Amino acid sequence: MRNGTDRRSFMKALGMGTAAAAMGTRAVGSSVAVGAGRLSGATDRDGKYALPRLPYAYDALEPFLASQTLTLHHDKHHQGYVKGLNATLDKLAAARQAGNYSTIKHLSRDLAFHGSGHVLHAIYWRSMTPGGSRLKGALADAVRRDFGSQEAFVQQFAAATRAVEGSGWGVAAYEPMGGKVLVLQAEKHQNLTVWGVVPLLVCDVWEHAYYLDYQNRRAEYVDGFLKVANWSFANQRYIEATAQA
Ligand code: MN
Repeated sequence: MRNGTDRRSFMKALGMGTAAAAMGTRAVGSSVAVGAGRLSGATDRDGKYALPRLPYAYDALEPFLASQTLTLHHDKHHQGYVKGLNATLDKLAAARQAGNYSTIKHLSRDLAFHGSGHVLHAIYWRSMTPGGSRLKGALADAVRRDFGSQEAFVQQFAAATRAVEGSGWGVAAYEPMGGKVLVLQAEKHQNLTVWGVVPLLVCDVWEHAYYLDYQNRRAEYVDGFLKVANWSFANQRYIEATAQA
């Protein structure tokens, strides 16, 4: 399982997973296995999303970032995403219960906005450490393989991050289907997805997927899709995604 090993190594290199416990972060949610992409403290014991503690003191990154900057960013901005994410999930539960999806576009946008905000900020705090740390180990090997050299990888990451148009993120990522490290930009941060999700089943609704058969009747195409949907494949993907702990 080369990909699984790579992924674990990459998460470790990013300081995710069990690193939080070693750093003395309160082990909230520690009864849940730290699996693929899980991050200690990002959920609470009830399974609600939660604001993870900073893995260092608010002034630990000075003079690079002032204590006030980190305090506002973490305690106000990130907390806002966590609250918004939990509130949106509650509203979606209410919509399901009522069988009323009249606000599904709005709620789906809020889910992506707050969900990606929470995921990316939780990773952002762990992406920094006082004094920095060197790139080595499995990720360094993967980067040499995929980028030629560490320097080329870091330069591409810096260039991509500097060039993000408007608000956004520079992202070093592991793409599990091809088993590659990629440097990506994210404008804003949601684009109606939550970063880090593992797709289980997908339906293409670009017009090229259905126009010859259904013209503008996308709903009919989606109904037809549901009749051929391979939920067994989705289940297999789910098992694989949750078994990588
Ligand atoms: Mn932010």
